[in-house]
Amino acid sequence: MKEIMIVAEHRRGELRDVTWELISKGRQLSEAIQGELSVALLGKGVTSLAEALKFKANRVLLIEDDRLEYYNSETYERVLTQLITERKPVLTMIGHTATGMDFAPGLAAHLKLPLATDCIGIDAKEDTFSVIRQIYGGKINAAVSFLKKGPSYMVTVRAGAFPFVEKEPLPGEVISIPSPLTDEGLARRFLQYVEAATGEVDITQADILVAVGRGIKDADSIPMVKELADTIGGVLACSRPVVDKKWLPKGCQVGTSGKTVKPKVYIAIGISGAFQHVAGMKGSGTIIAINKDPKAPIFSVAQYGIVADLFKIVPVIKDKIKELKK
Ligand SMILES: Cc1cc2nc3c(=O)[nH]c(=O)nc-3n(C[C@H](O)[C@H](O)[C@H](O)COP(=O)(O)OP(=O)(O)OC[C@H]3O[C@@H](n4cnc5c(N)ncnc54)[C@H](O)[C@@H]3O)c2cc1C
Repeated sequence: MKEIMIVAEHRRGELRDVTWELISKGRQLSEAIQGELSVALLGKGVTSLAEALKFKANRVLLIEDDRLEYYNSETYERVLTQLITERKPVLTMIGHTATGMDFAPGLAAHLKLPLATDCIGIDAKEDTFSVIRQIYGGKINAAVSFLKKGPSYMVTVRAGAFPFVEKEPLPGEVISIPSPLTDEGLARRFLQYVEAATGEVDITQADILVAVGRGIKDADSIPMVKELADTIGGVLACSRPVVDKKWLPKGCQVGTSGKTVKPKVYIAIGISGAFQHVAGMKGSGTIIAINKDPKAPIFSVAQYGIVADLFKIVPVIKDKIKELKK
């Protein structure tokens, strides 16, 4: 039996979105190769998560251990090394997230398996898999094939690259697997969670986000965008350079190294649309982009686009909305 194995990601009792995305893609690939889908779930006291995952795959491989209560690359590597060595999945899929990026390379090196990282496309191809990865800061998509070499391959998958698609349930089962962990040789231990400082408001909870990018030029112009946000009952968000320049706090940053947001409306002002930003906001309901460059990549994800100088158009929009509200 050909098995595709995904590694479930969870934090503080909740499965992360990327897990569902991996499941959808994993299921499609397992059907393409007439194989089966397994979910590896590592943790402590996570049976409720196993139940939630159960019917989404052919099986959940549940490994519980006190030492797995908190994520630790060392313990993950050890457990997954054993699991992959024993089960020999044709493909292991891991989220290209902070944790996935942390343990996947070490795991692949341990197992001497080929690893393709940050994939945004994966296809089954004869006896191997081909993937799509972005290079040159997202300007070029590169199609890459694994060599037809080993029995097993690994990929990390960009969060948000594949949608979660609800499918008919599978007759899943939960298989408890004894943990191979001992305290011997463990050099790292979990100390504490440190919450990222959020701004005044949690941007992941807002219905309307007005996001500002480097096009704003300096901190003095941020109030102009804040006024627009206030006028439409929205919350300010931003791209990374705005945080790097300390114009807005880190809690406002949208993107791969910031927050993933799914508001009903996302207005991107003076944001080019680099993939690191788009990954964090493309799940928004309606995306409106304002940019003076008609070729800015943000327009390819926006439903509505305004090609204009933000300094001219933002006050006009704000005044018009105020007028309409009277
Ligand atoms: C590991 C890594 C992680 C990253 N994580 C993130 C992340 O989480 N979030 C993130 O946002 N970025 C992230 N980045 C940075 C990312 O690659 C981009 O550099 C960044 O998103 C660009 O921000 P920007 O669009 O605001 O600026 P720019 O790319 O400089 O774009 C500014 C835009 O403003 C427009 N503009 C300029 N003046 C005006 C005007 N007067 N009127 C209208 N439009 C105007 C320009 O045409 C341009 O399109 C990351 C990068 C790396 C390497």
